Amino acid sequence: MPPELTAVLALCRNLPSPPGIALRIIELAQDPETDITTAADVIAIDMALSARMLRIANSPLYASRRRIENLGQALTMLGLNATISLALGFTVTQNLAATGQGQGQDVRARAWRRSILSALAASLLGQARGLRKAEELMLAGLLQDIGVLVLAQSEPDRYLPLLREARDNDELLALEREQLDCNHAEVGAWMGEQWDLPRYLVEAIAHSEAPATPEDTFQTCVALSGAVADIWLSADADAAREKALQQVNEALQLDSAQFDQVLARIGEALPEISALFETTLISPSRVQQLIDHAQELATLRNLREMQDAALARQRADEFEARANRLAEQAHRDALTGVLNRRQLEAVLEQEFLRATRHGWPLSVAFIDLDDFKKINDAHGHLLGDQVLRAFAGKLQEHLRNSDTVARFGGEEFIALLPNTTEPVALEVVRRVLGSIVNTPMAEVASGPLFVTFSAGVATQGGYERFADVQDLLKAADDVLYRSKNLGRNRVIARSPSPTPA
Ligand code: GH3
Ligand code: MG
Ligand code: MG
Repeated sequence: MPPELTAVLALCRNLPSPPGIALRIIELAQDPETDITTAADVIAIDMALSARMLRIANSPLYASRRRIENLGQALTMLGLNATISLALGFTVTQNLAATGQGQGQDVRARAWRRSILSALAASLLGQARGLRKAEELMLAGLLQDIGVLVLAQSEPDRYLPLLREARDNDELLALEREQLDCNHAEVGAWMGEQWDLPRYLVEAIAHSEAPATPEDTFQTCVALSGAVADIWLSADADAAREKALQQVNEALQLDSAQFDQVLARIGEALPEISALFETTLISPSRVQQLIDHAQELATLRNLREMQDAALARQRADEFEARANRLAEQAHRDALTGVLNRRQLEAVLEQEFLRATRHGWPLSVAFIDLDDFKKINDAHGHLLGDQVLRAFAGKLQEHLRNSDTVARFGGEEFIALLPNTTEPVALEVVRRVLGSIVNTPMAEVASGPLFVTFSAGVATQGGYERFADVQDLLKAADDVLYRSKNLGRNRVIARSPSPTPA
């Protein structure tokens, strides 16, 4: 590759990088100690990946007689090498699959489709030649054109016009040579090296447009896979078939009947494989409890596909409701039922972005119960817990549905008031305080127990613009500290205010 292009790519901020899960699978692939249990542990972390592994194990590519019901069975059936190859294929390409938006959606989608077709073609050509490396071939076929996707993403202005202009792969190679002084196979191999992909893959990508060693059947299958893929993509399918057959016959000695069998098998597996590679992720955030139930979710997917639709539907609904409940629980604080700190951070980020984008004010109240330690000391921790629960409930009751209440930790809570100016937020939280001080939070021997709180309000987009969520929280916390110092049982705001409550 010309050094300028290497430099451009190396510095490019748009350069796709494999997601975290792919990095872990690359590590697995490099580690001689890896066994199927370790691989299963890594894969189970990613629900979408687990579901895909299960689905592929049940696909026509593995015409297994019995249904594979869970991830463990799927991986055992596939074996270690196949598992790692397939998992790499699903994850490495995650950021490159042309399913998102962006420039050149049409041509990128076409390139992605060619990759999927090539994956099947490489694998099935290999099988026809008796190669026992179906998954490795599939992965190499999938990645052989990764250079196209990388260039389209990182150099859209220079590369997308070439992709549009070229009517077939030969023309594309010629244009690349002319305008970039390299071809997408070189770029793909370079990328594969940067990503630390296994050696055999980098080699296969590097030789995918010009097999250096024709006696290497593996590389030959990969190199021919693109021509086979073009049968599906070309305007003139018959001509493309002729061209591919000629090459396949010459390099792999398959005759026309054998070749047609390969094509039939590609056609058969195509819908399932396309669906597998085009599925968007179920959830980008990894809800821990849901992850623990990845197995169940996988079962749910299976159930959905079962013949006995009615029963399956019902059980699927039950599983789904359960999964939703778990996801919901994972967002909530176990003691008080309001949002937990982790979820608060997610909501805060979102609201902060939204407020900044639309120029809306976003108010935050940092709330801390007064002398809470004394309640614990006088009445015990359990009663303290009861007070926290009651308090959180009341707090939520007093705020609007669009406001968010979260437990920050201990006896500290956060109220998030979107689209609310500082004076309004101040008034709202003061009203809440006025009501809370008159509401019994528990019954003790001496009678009803009351609490007070101190709070600090800060607002993004009023007189102040904070750089980020942390600064906004810090500002509210500073004001809270001031209200504690002023004697507690009060709410004050950042900006000077004439009448403390
Ligand atoms: P201040 O008015 O200055 O805020 O005084 P305080 O006593 O409320 O504050 P401090 O931070 O000294 O003590 C907070 C107490 O809250 C101490 C801790 O044991 C108690 N606490 C924290 N989490 C829980 C909980 O989950 N349950 C119970 N019962 N108590 C808790
Ligand atoms: Mg306190
Ligand atoms: Mg405290």
